[in-house]
Amino acid sequence: MQTEGVDARRAVDELKELAELTGGPDGARRVAWTEEWEKAREWFRGKLEEIEGITEIETDEAGNVWATAPGDSEKAVILGGHIDSVPNGGWLDGALNVVGALEVMRALAPRQRPVALRLVDWADEEGARFGRSLFGSSATAGILDPEEVRGLKDKDGVALPDALAEHGVELDRMNESHKQLENAAAYLELHIEQGPVLERMDLPLGVVLGTFGVERHAVRFTGQHAHSGSTPMDVRRDAFIAAARSAIEFRDDARRRDDVRATTGFVNVSPAIVTAFNGWCEMSLDQRALDPEVLASMLDAAYDATERIATEEDVSVEWERLWRIEPILFDEELIGLAEEAVNEVAGTSHRLPSGPLHDAASMAPLMPTVMLFVKSLRGLSHTKDEDTPEEDLELSVQALHRLAVKTMDWAR
Ligand SMILES: [Zn+2]
Repeated sequence: MQTEGVDARRAVDELKELAELTGGPDGARRVAWTEEWEKAREWFRGKLEEIEGITEIETDEAGNVWATAPGDSEKAVILGGHIDSVPNGGWLDGALNVVGALEVMRALAPRQRPVALRLVDWADEEGARFGRSLFGSSATAGILDPEEVRGLKDKDGVALPDALAEHGVELDRMNESHKQLENAAAYLELHIEQGPVLERMDLPLGVVLGTFGVERHAVRFTGQHAHSGSTPMDVRRDAFIAAARSAIEFRDDARRRDDVRATTGFVNVSPAIVTAFNGWCEMSLDQRALDPEVLASMLDAAYDATERIATEEDVSVEWERLWRIEPILFDEELIGLAEEAVNEVAGTSHRLPSGPLHDAASMAPLMPTVMLFVKSLRGLSHTKDEDTPEEDLELSVQALHRLAVKTMDWAR
């Protein structure tokens, strides 16, 4: 389908250009706060500078880069993404968002608009070097506490504040970037799915309902370890067996529900020798759902299951919360517009939740927000094997273009 003014093929070519410049056989190397990242951003800025109608390109206090094409009113529709990658990352995660948005700016910036159109390249979405993801977008959203991250160091012992300073960012001033959102009317983000859902349904594009809420716990069982030869089966207080039975219950509970996740990631046992059963076992449980009530009921069910199993296995159980985040729901009206846009370019659409967090999750509490997903082959991401068919990438850029036009009209 022809979408006026947008050259989606050029976006694909530019993605390849970027991959050539800052990637290679081992994958993308655009880790935030490094030279390769600066190189990618310089390339990107050069492209922005050539676009007629963009009157301002600036870097805010958090290191995010903003390009603005003013409109008839002060209100602004924002297109967001991140050019940074994980080490040995893919060519599309984050890069598709900004390079697709670049092409949309090229099509729309030279024309008259009811509202301003802005593009933001968020700094350090991945948190690959210092372990704090959504870095730039949470600073701008005003939810980054400098004290929480001040002590972070990379694997070479470089302190976060020093690395930021090398790139002209002062930790204590990052939250001042909040003023960028003064006239923000809506936030749009295109991203690869990073999962297998769209591919399994044989669909190129989907509309994202929001990002999963997460409940993350450590569950510890304590019994008594003893000799594997001398201890009859019916008197054992085997903590590992209690944990294993629990893991299966967590999995089965999630399977009975619609589109939720439950994962046991780590399992540690003691004494972990071949001649004894384990008197102590610690496991993780990571539960995810889009509906807060569903998430709460999953947690209740898991808690009850471990209590029951602990009694049956004659061990004790204790829970410790490691982390949690509420589900973040995107805007109903923008979801509708996104569905229209996807239907127009692909003929069919699908609504799905996002498992991973994205910068859009930082923006959604502050303004109407929506995301588009494009199919990921084999559901792979954060690896050099990450890929999407080029014709689907082109459709995704066309859909973002249409969504931007519709949203500017809606926001006027
Ligand atoms: Zn990403």
